[in-house]
Amino acid sequence: MKITDIYKEKNKANKSVVSLEIFPPKTDAGIETIYNTVAGLTRKPDFISVTYGAMGSYGRENKTLEIAEKIKKEYAIETMHHLTSINNNPEQITEILQEIKSKNVENILALRGDVPVGAHREDFPDAYHYAYELISDIKKAGDFDVAAAIYPEGHVDSPLEVENIEHVKRKYDAGANFFVSQLFFDNDKFLRLNDYVKNSGIKAPIAAGIMPVLQKSQAERMIFFGASLPTRLIKIINKYKESPDDLRKAGMDYAFEQIDDLLSRGVDGVHIYTMNKPFVANQMMDKYL
Ligand code: FAD
Repeated sequence: MKITDIYKEKNKANKSVVSLEIFPPKTDAGIETIYNTVAGLTRKPDFISVTYGAMGSYGRENKTLEIAEKIKKEYAIETMHHLTSINNNPEQITEILQEIKSKNVENILALRGDVPVGAHREDFPDAYHYAYELISDIKKAGDFDVAAAIYPEGHVDSPLEVENIEHVKRKYDAGANFFVSQLFFDNDKFLRLNDYVKNSGIKAPIAAGIMPVLQKSQAERMIFFGASLPTRLIKIINKYKESPDDLRKAGMDYAFEQIDDLLSRGVDGVHIYTMNKPFVANQMMDKYL
């Protein structure tokens, strides 16, 4: 099923789409944990997205497609395959798209991909320059629903502190069916972008990316992705930094508050970064589906 159709159904019923994001674990045991978690969910997410080659660990050997196919086939949950272009030239993308199609995965999040630490964009001369070029080629290659990334606080490589609406528009014009946001901890930043995009004539659903803070180091890493930490969240982290269980609970509560607020404002969707933690997936699904 196309995720756009899920959006149409849910939004018609005045409901938001609630989805989860996972990444392919490095070990077989890690992959089994994912399947066991998915099998054990009493309430199913609207879809699960599976990341691809994130943070420079590029290569076709990763398990994105295998996981996306199995969750769809065996657990009857729709999936979305992330696909990055920086590590694949257009010919390789064509081959990958054929593989994805052959496994009946219909939804792709099309991304440029991060430049690995220590490298430069120029080190990848054969790759597409921007995600919109990948989006356009995916739409030509088959009947896929294509999502694109959007950044409530601007992209880290960009000098602007807000998302450049021209870049969003280019992705939309290239065929992006919906958007998924970078994680953020300040709802106002997302809501401002959401309004701005909708008022710019872009008629595609936008999902808000939410990641519960479970550890101090994790929150610090998020700054690297461009997400600012509101003072209240900093205080929570400092208060519980010596007590991992309390911080985990407070981090989940903060994420619940963010999601409650976003849902009450009628956002199109909420996309939850689970960090492959079964309790995050379980608690979120129990509360929101
Ligand atoms: P683009 O839209 O191409 O943007 C890249 C940079 O170029 C930005 O600074 C943008 O402002 C600028 N830009 C865009 N268009 C133009 C233009 N026409 N002219 C000039 N500048 C332009 N990474 C992974 O490796 N694997 C994943 O699975 C993954 N999943 C993600 C999921 C989500 C929801 C998000 C938000 C990000 C994810 N990323 C992932 C990270 C993503 O790959 C990086 O943020 C990457 O650096 C940018 O990807 P993009 O598709 O937004 O690129």
